[in-house]
Amino acid sequence: MKTYFVTGAMGFVGSHFSELLLKKGAKVIGLDLGPHAPHLLDYDNFTFVQDTVKNDDILKRCVDMADYVCHIAGIAEPDQYVKTPRKVIDITAFVGIKLIEMCRLTGKLFFLTSTSEIYGNNPNVPFKETDNRVLGPTSTNRWCYSSSKAILEHYLMACAHAKELDSVIVRLFNVYGPRLRGRVVANYLENALQGKNLIVHGDGSQTRSFTYIDDVVDAFDRLIHDEKCFNEIFNVGNPVETSILEFAKAVQKVSDKPIDLEYMTHAEYYGKSYEDIDRRVPDVSKLEKFTGWVPTTTLEDGLEKTFAYMKAKAAEK
Ligand code: UDP
Repeated sequence: MKTYFVTGAMGFVGSHFSELLLKKGAKVIGLDLGPHAPHLLDYDNFTFVQDTVKNDDILKRCVDMADYVCHIAGIAEPDQYVKTPRKVIDITAFVGIKLIEMCRLTGKLFFLTSTSEIYGNNPNVPFKETDNRVLGPTSTNRWCYSSSKAILEHYLMACAHAKELDSVIVRLFNVYGPRLRGRVVANYLENALQGKNLIVHGDGSQTRSFTYIDDVVDAFDRLIHDEKCFNEIFNVGNPVETSILEFAKAVQKVSDKPIDLEYMTHAEYYGKSYEDIDRRVPDVSKLEKFTGWVPTTTLEDGLEKTFAYMKAKAAEK
């Protein structure tokens, strides 16, 4: 059985992928700041390393022990892009390059969770992996996350061209499910739980493609274990396009309490003007062609499951 080193193993995406691997009997070395997904500790094949991603000696030791390095740790909260851009760049780009170098020198496969943010404000949806990245000015800091992921993608492509390292790159589209924190999905469900209003930024016509976590980690599993997918970039997302207003209505439907919508400008919410993305929709034909993957969880079902988890958690307290 293979060994996987997962950064951010106790975070939202990292913990779900780690659990899928653990259930299959693989060994997982999981690095994270704290035991935020403590149920992973029950697996004998899981080794938890409680540390930051800033300790090079620890990173190196973990890479040495692994066959695959899955770099999932990151700061993917839009308000942090404008509030703590240096930290976002540091964790994403600097640590990422360091880990890629460790893999390049030791011949380990590198798995990168990149982002649909990479397409920026390209108006031509759905996005194909070969489409242009349309980002705004540097001065706002708003694009620091997507730019950091872009540099890692470039670096991996450069290594692939030189035949120095194998990697798989996935661009994720608004992943949600149990243990998600922040972002529109967790915010809305949390508010529904407490009977508070749902805050809609702008007029709510902006769209996203909400993708349930089980579908996402299923795609990871297929891609990382199939050589023909190496050194390729894949969109991983549910191509159903949903406006924030439609999404708010879906949350109102699953909510046990009646909840209202409240409108706020982006500037009011983020503290300064924030360039939102109008439409974000993936073309997933490449992923389907390479692996046969299609998403199987509808937004309604995914929301029900996520809300049920949150209610159970709240009842424990
Ligand atoms: N949004 C909203 N209310 C919230 C949080 C987010 O209306 O409480 C909007 C946000 O402005 C964006 C969309 O929902 O248009 C998705 O935001 P999220 O923070 O989930 O991540 P993004 O997809 O922008 O990276």
